[in-house]
Amino acid sequence: MTDIQQKIEALRDELRQHNYNYYVLDNATISDYEFDIKLQELQELENKYPEFFDPNSPTQRVGGEITKNFETVTHKNRMYSLSNSYSKEDLIDWEKRIQKILGTDKVEYTCELKYDGASINLTYENGVLKSAVTRGDGFQGDDVTANIKTIRSIPLQLKHNFIDSFEIRGEIILPFKGFNEMNAARIEAGEDPYMNPRNTASGSLKLQDSAEVANRPLDCLLYHVVADRQPFKTHAASLENAKKVGFKIPDNFKVVKSIDVVFDYINYWDTERFNLPYETDGVVVKVNSLAYQDELGYTAKAPRWAIAYKFKAEQKNTVLKSISYQVGRTGAITPVANLEPVALAGTIVKRASLHNADQIAKLDIRVNDTVFVEKGGEIIPKVVGVDFAKRQADSKPTIYATHCPDCNTALVRKDGDAKHYCPNEYGCPTQITGRIQHFISRKAMDIDGLGAETVELLFKENLITNYADLYDLKVEQIIPLERMAEKSAENMIKGIEKSKEIPFERVLFALGIRFVGETVAKKLAKHFKSIDSLMKASFEELIAVDEIGERIAESIVNFSNNLVNIQLIDRLKSYGVQLQLSAESLENQTEILQGKIFVVSGVFAKMSRNELKKSIEDNGGKVSSSISKKTTYIIAGENMGPSKRTKADELKIPVISEDDYLNMLV
Ligand code: AMP
Ligand code: ZN
Repeated sequence: MTDIQQKIEALRDELRQHNYNYYVLDNATISDYEFDIKLQELQELENKYPEFFDPNSPTQRVGGEITKNFETVTHKNRMYSLSNSYSKEDLIDWEKRIQKILGTDKVEYTCELKYDGASINLTYENGVLKSAVTRGDGFQGDDVTANIKTIRSIPLQLKHNFIDSFEIRGEIILPFKGFNEMNAARIEAGEDPYMNPRNTASGSLKLQDSAEVANRPLDCLLYHVVADRQPFKTHAASLENAKKVGFKIPDNFKVVKSIDVVFDYINYWDTERFNLPYETDGVVVKVNSLAYQDELGYTAKAPRWAIAYKFKAEQKNTVLKSISYQVGRTGAITPVANLEPVALAGTIVKRASLHNADQIAKLDIRVNDTVFVEKGGEIIPKVVGVDFAKRQADSKPTIYATHCPDCNTALVRKDGDAKHYCPNEYGCPTQITGRIQHFISRKAMDIDGLGAETVELLFKENLITNYADLYDLKVEQIIPLERMAEKSAENMIKGIEKSKEIPFERVLFALGIRFVGETVAKKLAKHFKSIDSLMKASFEELIAVDEIGERIAESIVNFSNNLVNIQLIDRLKSYGVQLQLSAESLENQTEILQGKIFVVSGVFAKMSRNELKKSIEDNGGKVSSSISKKTTYIIAGENMGPSKRTKADELKIPVISEDDYLNMLV
């Protein structure tokens, strides 16, 4: 190393340490002025000797990179959401479920605050920040690395070795102090103040000019290390070690031995949270042992090993002026409250959800009532009760809608369904356009050049009445329409044409079969491999598929027996839409394990639990989460749960090793 290079590196190290002292430890050891002098010195050296450029130098924190379009990237590990709980009973139930699965009542928990901001996934390789991606829909997010690098508390380079390659997740927040200062400056400049810190933080991540992000007093609190091979045994240990290498992990983190102590933590923070420098909307409780976490796994949406406890949301009262009814693409009716506008949790609320007829009856909600409105984690506020003292003498109970607001068909409600439905599936305009809009949406057929409004227009002009009609559209038919030109018409046709490449599982989701969401569609595609075998499947065959319940099975059978759908599918096929898995995705799949049901328990040496499960499914086997008479084999890794061991012995189910399993495949 040359002298110059050494000098540059020494300055960088020193500035990194000062950054850390100031932004992570909140304990500066030099004045801002001294810091600026050193930073300037470094900047000058870097300008003079560009051969020593380092994208992770402290000089890079000031930003300046412009991003026009944030690249969408697929998360290596899905970013799940969290199950919510609102009461201590919920937490006790959660604990019972966990103890049952693990077969022990000795489970340690960690308690953390639920930081209210925008979630972020940071990837580090060999101690250096490689990328920062927003959560997005959990599967894919936006690459916002250039902006994230300007947040001083996020290390660009770690202090010591940690894990060679890992992800760390956290929340980008805007502490109150910085938020208020930003707003004061805006007001002085004659601009409107920002509504709340959370939205401002998440909005900041998508600014095009990273220099502007650098000027915002953003912070990042971290809470989860994700790695293929974790060298740690507990969540607490992984966080403590992450803290040692420079990450900002709040001190209010705590390890507890039982759920009782979790309550103490919740009670303490329920009032103490108002003294925090940033917003929190709850507590997150996690199972501390990583082996247990692995054993508990995930539901379709959230880890089983964690739960959020939400503090009571902010509530306001206001007058309910009227109730209107909306129809969704599945025909479900949603009652909506039209309110006297009221300021709530940073926004002006004019409409709120009323859920369904039962809820309205149960709470006895009536027009002209003064109602309590609450805004929890959900975006849409909801009506949670009535101030009966303010009820007017002439008030009358609400009579729920009897007919569809759109097509005037009498509504129906099946036993056990909370919602009313408009049964006019193929004649109700909102349902028709809603289904087509769902079909073309981003996660479904992702048709470029065609939007929700155009679908309504095409329907109004009688050019389409179902999604198959899209594929018959001609440029000449579209050009004469309002706001359409040759170019946009051509783009639309091109987009429709291109959708023929969308893989089967997404087509299946696009069909809009009730209860068949993205995850279920994936499961079904994998299991049945083609629309033909799915539509031929009986109710029994369907419920035999892992995670397919009666409700879903019934809905698929109904769909498949309907002549209209059969014709639509035939048409889609004739246009070349993917209605079976491609040869490529079938390639790695065999039927070797056909009919065998596996239970996987413990930690494995050669692959992760998820890889193992995927391998079983790819080879035609089934994975079940609990041992029963039907289980064919239990694959046991290290630390297999003791209750599973006992149960396996009881039912005399063979317990095999990872290697035994791999030998089955050859
Ligand atoms: P929700 O968006 O309500 O499903 O809650 C899940 C989100 O909570 C996660 O995506 C995180 O962004 C956020 N979160 C905030 N604090 C924590 C924490 N301490 N542990 C885990 N997740 C957290
Ligand atoms: Zn209708």
